[in-house]
Amino acid sequence: MCLSKIVKWLVGTPLDNPPVESPTEPLPILSIPHPEEEIIPLATIEATDINQVFNDWLEDWQVNPMAFPFWLTVNIEVSNKYLFPAGTMAETKQMWIRPEWANPGVIAHEMAHISYSLLSQEDKSKFPVAFLEALETDDLLQLVYSTKPYMRFDDIETHADCYRYLGQQMPKSLKRFYPYLF
Ligand SMILES: [Zn+2]
Repeated sequence: MCLSKIVKWLVGTPLDNPPVESPTEPLPILSIPHPEEEIIPLATIEATDINQVFNDWLEDWQVNPMAFPFWLTVNIEVSNKYLFPAGTMAETKQMWIRPEWANPGVIAHEMAHISYSLLSQEDKSKFPVAFLEALETDDLLQLVYSTKPYMRFDDIETHADCYRYLGQQMPKSLKRFYPYLF
């Protein structure tokens, strides 16, 4: 570009059509705070450092350190005995996870199931109501709810995936439904 064109551009363009009103700020692009990790197809039980994965969950989801002693009593076994990624017996705090799925997000989902099991029946019944209320106004929750179909499977999976994908960024009104996690 030659100098005369630059001068013309500098002088001419901004003033030719002065905006009547300043344009509105573009909306920030939302992104899921804790997206799915890649699965590791060739992962083995022997090579999986589950303690490291567990620690990554504690750190990345900023679990309340006061609750660490509680979470350290969960027994996590890396195992191929189930075809699905992971499963948890919430009452006995026993979890199984396949090696290719051994990542902090899957741990977060399963730990949310344990947290849910600690809720009173009353709070379990209040959660779906509070969730739908939060969904009306929370953009990030709407993003997750509209893009992650498993979240709509039932109330328990809704509860788990809300924590798994949003972590600390879930609506404040829902955090009370997650004992030992905040
Ligand atoms: Zn689940």
